Amino acid sequence: TAKDEGDGYFRYYKPNLLPLIAERMQLENGLHKALLENQLFLCYQPKISAATGELSGIEALIRWKHPELGLIPPDKFIPLAEESGFILEIDRWVFREACRQNKAWQDAGLQQVSVSVNISARHFYQGDLIEMIAEELQNTGLDARYISLEITEGVFMRNIEQVIEKIQYLRRLGIQISIDDFGTGFSSLNQLQRLPISDVKLDRSFIRGITHDDKKSSIVRAIIELAHSMNMRVVAEGVETGEESQFCKDLNCDELQGYLFSRPLPAEMFEEFLRG
Ligand code: C2E
Ligand code: MG
Ligand code: MG
Ligand code: MG
Repeated sequence: TAKDEGDGYFRYYKPNLLPLIAERMQLENGLHKALLENQLFLCYQPKISAATGELSGIEALIRWKHPELGLIPPDKFIPLAEESGFILEIDRWVFREACRQNKAWQDAGLQQVSVSVNISARHFYQGDLIEMIAEELQNTGLDARYISLEITEGVFMRNIEQVIEKIQYLRRLGIQISIDDFGTGFSSLNQLQRLPISDVKLDRSFIRGITHDDKKSSIVRAIIELAHSMNMRVVAEGVETGEESQFCKDLNCDELQGYLFSRPLPAEMFEEFLRG
């Protein structure tokens, strides 16, 4: 009967779901503690100028060193924090820490370069993005031109006028804005035309296999041409091989980022890139 089937269904799934729910709750609860107890830290990955091969920027990427579970990657806890709203506090911490670190490097006489921070779309709808940024720049003493924000296309799904206003305000402060993971969302470059965006980061799914995929390379070529015609730079994400790097350069990509140049590194290890 239907009832028996129903029972069977639950008997089958329940044991599989429970550990997942438990893990999720453990992470969600642990995240507040993580922020208070300094379990979060940033790694830094270089962006390389395609023209010169020199360091052109840095991306800050969050990591969580959990006391029992070990190192937890952001894909495991950022989505949870986005759902619960705790992301607003995490983003503020990341922004502050990236500013503090960059200022410390500058004060130590190391190369002056812009650090980009990933900001959740949620920050554009809720919360006090502008105030947060002004406060933390003031607190850390970092010049606004040494910070940039990476936002995803998700930002443009709602309240577009309000989003544009905020981005324009940030640009007036001197902050650069990048569209991250470009090509994975629903926006088109046409829509981006309305926005004062400094650069577009091509999602790494476009780069993987680009050297032997004619369709991919034509799409990427078209994106780059259009972006350039709108005065935006293009960054290739996830460059892993010399062939991919050369291919992106030949397509006139402006900057390259990926394991070929370096994995994201803790601050002390990253310093080597700043000594030039
Ligand atoms: P994202 O902003 O697109 O960052 C790029 C991701 O690609 C990073 O993963 C980086 O380690 C990885 N990556 C870089 N080069 C390569 C490569 O050559 N090959 C491959 N396979 N991967 C490469 P990560 O650090 O695990 O971060 C994942 C995502 O989590 C980020 O994607 C971003 O969306 C989010 N995230 C990371 N840190 C933060 C943060 O501080 N705040 C917020 N809101 N989100 C963050
Ligand atoms: Mg990013
Ligand atoms: Mg990305
Ligand atoms: Mg991403």
